[in-house]
Amino acid sequence: MTRFLVDRMLGQTAKWLRLMGIDTEYAPEGDDEEILKIARGEGRVIVTRDKELARKEGVFLVPKEPATKVIPRILSIYQVEIRPMSRCSKCNSVVEEVDKKAVDKHVPQGVLSWCDDYWRCTGCGQVYWKGTHWDKIMATIEEMTAHI
Ligand SMILES: [Zn+2]
Repeated sequence: MTRFLVDRMLGQTAKWLRLMGIDTEYAPEGDDEEILKIARGEGRVIVTRDKELARKEGVFLVPKEPATKVIPRILSIYQVEIRPMSRCSKCNSVVEEVDKKAVDKHVPQGVLSWCDDYWRCTGCGQVYWKGTHWDKIMATIEEMTAHI
């Protein structure tokens, strides 16, 4: 499965990749050599708008388009496994399903009253549930993956 190293300017692209459960780290601020070294060391494809950097091998040059257009291009080229709600959109760590009791202090009372399924990031501890925004996220993911 392809892993990615995304330019800091491409926050929306990184967020959507993570929401689909795809291993996506941000490239550090630094020169191209340093970014290439990390990408090679960790076996990641670099995703960037930097034309100079994109001349190197293993780099995807992002056209000037919104993330929802860029993602299908990436998915059509690279081998990935799409598993929504498996990775934290904030820190890229793996998210695991947890018992409602384990997170009830971190979830608004209004949510606890109707929602029984929760996930927690193993890295930063962020708690997730499939709230009202989740249908929108899934609809966007379905749109982006429909024609691959
Ligand atoms: Zn996290």
